[in-house]
Amino acid sequence: MQVCNRCGVTRLLAREHKWLPNGTIVLAADPTYRMVMMDSAAFVSIFHHLSENIGLPIDDIIVEAKRRSGRNYIDTVLTGPKGMLVRKFASAKVYEKVGDQAAILGYGAAHVEEYRKHKSLTVTISNVYYGAPMAGDTCGAFESVERCDAGLEWQVSDSTLSVHVTAGLPDREEFEERFRYSAPPTLPGNVIWTPCLSCGVPTEVGHIHRYEPEKGMITERKSGRRIVSMGMGTMNKIFNELEQELGEEVPRMIASLEKERARGVMLAKGKEMDTSEDGYLRFLDMLPVRGMGIAVSASWQGSTITVRIDNPHYESLNAALIAGFYEATTGKKSRVSWTKNTEGYTLIKVSPAESGSD
Ligand SMILES: [Zn+2]
Repeated sequence: MQVCNRCGVTRLLAREHKWLPNGTIVLAADPTYRMVMMDSAAFVSIFHHLSENIGLPIDDIIVEAKRRSGRNYIDTVLTGPKGMLVRKFASAKVYEKVGDQAAILGYGAAHVEEYRKHKSLTVTISNVYYGAPMAGDTCGAFESVERCDAGLEWQVSDSTLSVHVTAGLPDREEFEERFRYSAPPTLPGNVIWTPCLSCGVPTEVGHIHRYEPEKGMITERKSGRRIVSMGMGTMNKIFNELEQELGEEVPRMIASLEKERARGVMLAKGKEMDTSEDGYLRFLDMLPVRGMGIAVSASWQGSTITVRIDNPHYESLNAALIAGFYEATTGKKSRVSWTKNTEGYTLIKVSPAESGSD
């Protein structure tokens, strides 16, 4: 797989994804399909902690959400004559190509071990960022290419995932009515991108991220932290499902986990940070590159800062980032609240915590 010789972004990704002026990333084939570039370790640690806090594994929920979205993603990418050809000549090679889709999103490097047309598929994925979602994606991709339902078995050892998918009707009744999500409206925005003269992707994208499609990895250049790109709908569906299953404190737990992490990352940088209103907006300049929305205003009232984010990817994660910044810069524990994004924006308020709360 080629990367752009000018900015270093994977060419296939550059063709299939678009960075819009409103702080969102969408698929070129379907502008309603939003993508978001997440810190991989943050994503994984949220699930581990949630799982620990409630004392139950939550992998089944993640596999199922990703199976659905994986199928949907490949359905969207494989439309028209290209999709017809791929399906007619389905082969191990076709699945290597489908594996490229996972690699460009930073999910790991897929290798087809065995393929039996319309029957089964065995794949190993090295450098896998997290087993459960990737196993779900693999099953979904098989279902999309073969146009059938399928069941799966999977296991991870040493960062390598093995998945075996078999065509047939698995028992999925308990998930029938679930994973509903309707995206809130998106608002227009005025981010001015400077497109790469060679591939057209905003130059900021390759400036911040290193793309290594052969390894199936995307990393942040400065910190070396791993990044994965995923459907915003999928992420919201997984979190909503967990909230339904485990209770409404889930978004708050997610916010609290991510706040701790964000504060740690910022403190580790150890440099002076500007805490004026403009300083907050400058800090949040990184949101649009990742498809996490745009910070449009920040205002101080006493020791409370209120920030408005248009087109947020998930309110509690946007809020956690701001609370992490607040804590890192004030040295104080904070209390954070946010409004639900129903009209295309969220208002996030961070103030000092009263003693004993967070
Ligand atoms: Zn380029």
